[in-house]
Formats: sequence, structure tokens, C-alpha cells
Amino acid sequence: MSDIFKGSFTQQEPIPEAGIEAAVAVMRHGRLHRYNTVEGEVAETVLLEQEFAASVGAKYCLAVASGGYAMATALRAVGVKAGDRVLTNAFTLAPVPGAIAAVGAVPVFVGVTPELVLDLDDLEAKADQADVLLLSHMRGHLCDMERLMAICDAHGIKVIEDCAHTMGAAWKGKPSGTWGIVGCYSCQTYKHINSGEGGLFVTNDAEVAARAIMYSGSYMLYERHLAGPPAETFETIRYETPNISGRMDNLRAAILRPQLADLATQCARWNERYFAIEEAVRGTAGLKVIERPQAETIVGSSIQFLLEGWSGEAVTDLVARCAARGVEFKWFGGAEPVGFTSRYDSWRYVDAPAMPDSDRVLAGIIDMRVPLTFTLEDCALIGRIIREEVARVGSSIG
Ligand SMILES: *Cc1c(COP(=O)(O)O)cnc(C)c1O
Repeated sequence: MSDIFKGSFTQQEPIPEAGIEAAVAVMRHGRLHRYNTVEGEVAETVLLEQEFAASVGAKYCLAVASGGYAMATALRAVGVKAGDRVLTNAFTLAPVPGAIAAVGAVPVFVGVTPELVLDLDDLEAKADQADVLLLSHMRGHLCDMERLMAICDAHGIKVIEDCAHTMGAAWKGKPSGTWGIVGCYSCQTYKHINSGEGGLFVTNDAEVAARAIMYSGSYMLYERHLAGPPAETFETIRYETPNISGRMDNLRAAILRPQLADLATQCARWNERYFAIEEAVRGTAGLKVIERPQAETIVGSSIQFLLEGWSGEAVTDLVARCAARGVEFKWFGGAEPVGFTSRYDSWRYVDAPAMPDSDRVLAGIIDMRVPLTFTLEDCALIGRIIREEVARVGSSIG
């Protein structure tokens, strides 16, 4: 009988004890709202913002209710208006085009390469169609950020980075989220730090930071944002910016701060697991690992493989066989979105032309989460199961 993997692909680690204690302390004093502080107290939310800004080397940081909220706020703060077109990835997660739709703007999709990054030639071809790019580092893959910024700078395109999968990652040593004008992060359970829901927003632009703080619902208490811009930045912005509440609270911030302090260690643990799986499957006929560029500092919290030229039937068969042995894949080539949506043609509120090159790539991507609850032995077993099943399906289809 062949081995079966018994672990769960959706089970994250518990909140560290320090986070639990800090959360209990917030509940004991009851001041959960970020602006509810006593004389001399600095709110947990403010401390988180200062610590996160320092960790990526950004001037300003705002903690918000979700990654999706951070992105929509970024779009508003850089001036996107209803009816504007915004460039974004054809392959990402639903909250990315959703943030564009939330501000009444219209996504213009840019294709995906077999390296699973934004197709920069396609970006260049579409660069005249919009003034803003909402760039998603989908599944942690960073494109050539220098070339991307050169294209966008040449066309006057502002770049907002969706770093939901790249908190802790970098390109040529420069943290993801600091290349464009705004970096947006998610603190949802399946991301790199976990408060259930939550988001972070970083920028070096004082006016963009001030607008975001006003949008998030700061009730003219912006001077309490110690990770925000100086008070004079708000002089007119405070009258001109609507309140679209989406603050983070002190309970979530308390849970997140100890996790942020551990982030580098956790990233190293993700990468051990990622590379253990990669090594176990590398060289399997019919399955291609995604080679990671040297310039990229990765966080391997999920792993993708390409099944180039496989029929839909063969992929379905492989996914089912692996599932029967406890190995859960997402297949981005499936005709119907199940449990998630990640493809431009699933978002039918956008009138998008067909993208055959991207379709070909998407048809062959399989994807797996790599939670830290997996041991390195688990990763070796998972790799072995994939290898065996790819070989079986591969030989049956010739
Ligand atoms: C999770 C995620 C987000 C943000 O999600 P929220 O649930 O709104 O925090 C953004 N982009 C991608 C690619 C994601 O996976």
C-alpha cells in the first residue's frame, strides 16, 4: 500500500504565547479601539505601525482592517477615480480586481509568464492604457522589479504593490512593498502573520499616507499616528478626504507584534519546507519546478509546479490521485472556480479580452500551501507522493 499524508494544508501554527498574553492584556483593560488610550499610553496599533515601517524601511505605515481594504485605500489615495482604468495581474486573487472594482475603476489585465510573474512585455504594450498598476506578487513570485519600475517610470505609471504573499520577501535585497508608491499586506490567517483579518499599508509619500489615514477613519486624531506624516500634511487633506472606516484595532495589533518580531525566523522555516518539497520533485518527467531568480529573496509559504502540455483530463486525474493520498492541490486551469478565484476570466464583471498565452500557462499550474505545521519529513513524503503520482499519470497518458 502506498503512503498517505495525514496532515492538514490549512492548519497554521497557533498564535505565539507572547501574542496571546498581549491580547489578553488588551481585553483586560478593554481599550480595543486604536484611539482609546490613557494618558501616556501608546496604542498597540501604533506600535505595530512603527515596528512594521521599520522592518521594511518605509517612512509611514497604517494598520487597517484587511489586505483588500489596504489596496482600495491605496487606489483612492493615489487619486484613482470611478471610471479610471487600472492595470493589474490576470492571475491573482479575487480581492485584487475587487479592490479596483470597489473604487469604481476598471481592471486592465496584464498576462502571466511561465515563471508565474507579470508579463513585462505585455505590461509595456498596455502601458498607455492607465496611470496606475496594482501589481500582485501572486504566490510570492517577484518579477524583475528594476525593469518593471523602469517601464512604469517611463510611462508615468504609479505602482501599488500587493504583498499578501511577499511579506518578508525582497528583490535584490529591497523589500517587496517598497518599490512602488504604496505597499499593501494582509494579516489574514493564511498569510505570513496571522490576526484572522487585518492589513498593513506602507508608503514614503506624506500626502498619500495622510489621505490613507483620513480614509481609514481617524476622526481628526491623526496626530496620534506616530508612524504617520507630520500634522501640517493634513492641513487641507483633512477637509477633503471622506471617512471610509477600515481601522485595525488594538487586539489584532497585540496578536501581530510578536509575530512580526519572529517573521525572519518563520520565513526561514517556510523556505526549508519549500526547498525540501522542491528537491523531492525536481527532475520528475512531465513536471516543471519554477526556478527562482537569484535576485529574489523568497518566502516559500506555497509552492507551484507547471504541467506543461498536459490535457485537462490528465491534470484532473493527477489532482484526484494526489488528493486520495492526502496531498491537496489547487489547479488554476479548472473551468470552474472552486474555493477561490484567481483568473481574469472568472471575474465576469470585467469585460476582458481573451489572453491565450496566459490561458496556456494557467492551464498547467498546480499549487500547494506549505504551512509551518508540516515537518521536513512531511515535506519529503509529500514530494514522494507527487513524484509517484506524476509518474503514474504520465505513463498512462503516454
Ligand atoms: C489574501 C490576499 C489579498 C488580501 O486579502 P484580504 O483577505 O483582503 O486580507 C490580496 N492579494 C492576494 C494575492 C491574496 O492572496
